[in-house]
Amino acid sequence: PIMMNDPVQVQQICVAVRKRPLNKKENIRKEVDVVTVPNKELTVVHEPKLKVDLTKYLENQVFRFDYAFDESSDNELVYKFTAKPLVQTVFEGGMATCFAYGQTGSGKTHTMGGDFQGKSQDCTKGIYALAANDVFKILNSAKYRSEDLIVASSFFEIYSGKVFDLLNNKAKLRVLEDGKQQVQVVGLQENLVECVEDVLRLIQHGNSVRTSGQTSANQHSSRSHAVFQIILRKRMTGRLHGKFSLIDLAGNERGADTSSANRQTRMEGAEINKSLLALKECIRALGHKGAHLPFRASKLTQVLRDSFIGENSRTCMIAMISPGLSSCEHSLNTLRYADRVK
Ligand code: ADP
Ligand code: MG
Repeated sequence: PIMMNDPVQVQQICVAVRKRPLNKKENIRKEVDVVTVPNKELTVVHEPKLKVDLTKYLENQVFRFDYAFDESSDNELVYKFTAKPLVQTVFEGGMATCFAYGQTGSGKTHTMGGDFQGKSQDCTKGIYALAANDVFKILNSAKYRSEDLIVASSFFEIYSGKVFDLLNNKAKLRVLEDGKQQVQVVGLQENLVECVEDVLRLIQHGNSVRTSGQTSANQHSSRSHAVFQIILRKRMTGRLHGKFSLIDLAGNERGADTSSANRQTRMEGAEINKSLLALKECIRALGHKGAHLPFRASKLTQVLRDSFIGENSRTCMIAMISPGLSSCEHSLNTLRYADRVK
């Protein structure tokens, strides 16, 4: 992997890109790897370049992000530079979000939920679990032991503009906005968790609910956003202290399904498109006081509203890239999107 210094300071918006290795199928087809992450040998890379070699199509394009991870990087390294610095924010009473963005098959679920081996998933190595692990570490540290905070988790899915609770039999939930513009997902289960093992059980359960009961599991999960939340509350009052939302976004190529012959597919595509555009605007607005937040434009941004408005809101986006030539168009779309988030 690329050697990097520890993150120097926590930025309000951090954009990273991760390239996955060519998989078995791609190797068998002799796919050409068109993505290179240069400067690997450097020990300090704060602004590594990601080079997309498109000599067959266009000239080369170089994108710069806060961090670029090549195919030898593992989830722990990616986590260390993206979501990990945000855990502290949550303890300080802030709101944090971490998004996995990219086309279907680029590694979003691998990064967030952990690796699948056959049908079972090792979720201990995903960012959900790594973040939960650090939450409990800090909670039990001398500084916070006396704060009397409790930890809870929720896990839900947004599919075609509707919210489904992954910890409660996919119950369909309503989203309400009160007069003070507070957004509430009515009846969303918040399960108390006391250790990492508790969190892992919830992740496993939610993941299995997410991908079951569909004729084609991947078809379904590629069209939905999965939102996993770690919530800190005051033990005595139940008052919200801080929240970390970790989001496995719908495949961005699905947003292009707006001209499909199938009406359902077309509507889902339009919804995904709308939500990803609104998300980009909401993240961009983070750093700017008084900026317009189009959070009502989609269910995704609406339910995350409180994470975008606070003074102490921080976000990171990890844009996932498939290395193959056949993914080139999608990869470029992903890079352009990520480039404009900041
Ligand atoms: P997505 O959620 O974006 O559709 P997945 O996370 O399901 O994509 O990844 C597709 C496949 O590629 C999975 O089999 C996954 O295990 C594998 N994969 C993704 N990223 C990596 C990586 N960095 N290293 C090894 N395998 C990966
Ligand atoms: Mg996935």
